[in-house]
Amino acid sequence: MRINPITTNYNSCYTGKNKTKKTQTNPIGTFQELKPSRNYYPVNFKGLPMSVNELAKQIPLEDRLASIFQNFKLEDMILVGKQLGECAKKMYNSSGTVKQAIKRGFFIEDEKLGGNLGFIKNSLGDKEVINLNDFDITLISDNKSYDMKPQESFYVLENDILSVNGNQLKIKDKSKTDLSKFRKNFAKAFDFQKEVETQIEKINKKTLSTLIQKKHKTSTPVTFEQVGGMSELKDALKKDIIYPLRYPDAYENVELNHGFLLYGPPGTGKTHIARALANEADAHFIGLNGLDLESKWVGESEANWRQLFEEAKANQPTIIFLDEFDAVARSRDSKDEYGNKVVNQILTLMTDIDNEGENVFVIGATNNYKALDSAIIRSGRFGKHYEVPSPDLETLKQIFDIHAGKKPLDKNINKDALLEKLYRNKATGADIKHIINEAHTNGFVRAGIFEKMENHTYSPQDKAGFKITQEDLDKAAESFLKDKKSNNRTPLGFMR
Ligand code: ADP
Repeated sequence: MRINPITTNYNSCYTGKNKTKKTQTNPIGTFQELKPSRNYYPVNFKGLPMSVNELAKQIPLEDRLASIFQNFKLEDMILVGKQLGECAKKMYNSSGTVKQAIKRGFFIEDEKLGGNLGFIKNSLGDKEVINLNDFDITLISDNKSYDMKPQESFYVLENDILSVNGNQLKIKDKSKTDLSKFRKNFAKAFDFQKEVETQIEKINKKTLSTLIQKKHKTSTPVTFEQVGGMSELKDALKKDIIYPLRYPDAYENVELNHGFLLYGPPGTGKTHIARALANEADAHFIGLNGLDLESKWVGESEANWRQLFEEAKANQPTIIFLDEFDAVARSRDSKDEYGNKVVNQILTLMTDIDNEGENVFVIGATNNYKALDSAIIRSGRFGKHYEVPSPDLETLKQIFDIHAGKKPLDKNINKDALLEKLYRNKATGADIKHIINEAHTNGFVRAGIFEKMENHTYSPQDKAGFKITQEDLDKAAESFLKDKKSNNRTPLGFMR
């Protein structure tokens, strides 16, 4: 059916109250009745110009569609409907039907069609229509008719007719007149690809700026003294990084290793020692989390990695710490283009650092050594691998003293029995820190300090004689062991 909106408009002017009034006051006949009254002249009849958009809508839908079909590309989509928002939602629900990515969308608003339709070009080059209605529509092709259920798609050819709610739309490959110049007046075009690219760029920039903010030296510097145990690792890191930075002339003819891997269970102090290292080496510290990166640096993240290394070089000496490194450098299927790209990118950047002799050191940390991409291991770019195992009893004691040292601990506390028990239960440094903090909280509850805070009667004197007791500590340790047994404890020690 040729949709002829002008006729529809015209008729609609003679319906309603006034018509009835006229019939009542002037019963002479239909001729006078049809004479348009001043109040109801459609603007175009008076010769006043309609907006170009309004005029464009008067062009038959089949011609408007045809003018887009004339330049229809594989990754294009056309949505036609009364309410385009609704139409887009329906298209989204039908997205399983569309087998290829959509890069550009054209939206044609049309009130007369009585339904919603989506058009795409399939990989064979045919135009395909998708029924975006909750009811069946009919496709009439070569005198045969086919019912199309909601969300079903059929390819369409020139002269096929789509019957939507009793209204017919003929498929034409070419419009009667060249409408290309007016297209923007009847079809809103949307470049998805460009939009997605801009969004990705925005997200990546945001992520990068938050990461770069972390570049400054750690706010409360940690020293090697505050790292319990790991004496061999401290020693190795001194020789690998701290001395070369402190005494560069002594290392003039030495090829430095710039990539390190620390592996071991979570909470054993890998991040902690890396921070201490940056402080001891008087270097900048950039801490990144592989899991965060994977989710935030969507799409093409190569540019971000490049920029990150540039920042590191510009601020050298710098330690880049990549926690949960296996998330970005996980052994991947070779089909995973994104993963492979990232691994290759990191390796290229590491090669540049090696070749240019920059004072940038990259430390990857993982709880899952075996999951690391073999390309990372094979490349030799991460040349030194150090294990950070669960702490032994002696180390646990040191860690306890480091963390308890800052707390008001009762001098009668006997930590040995407690630590032996925790050691048997494979507690880590992060666990010890957690237990001491919990003991502090238990002490506040016992001493009624929280209650005073709640009642607004707390004053600094209340804390003056406060001490963490054996009871507070035992209670915290018991609760930790109970949680560990029931296995519902959130692992501690992840860098957030
Ligand atoms: P990982 O990186 O191995 O998962 P973290 O370094 O994040 O572990 O450990 C979490 C916290 O536990 C650290 O911030 C630190 O306070 C404490 N911790 C862990 N191991 C030690 C240690 N050997 N000495 C002192 N504190 C430690």
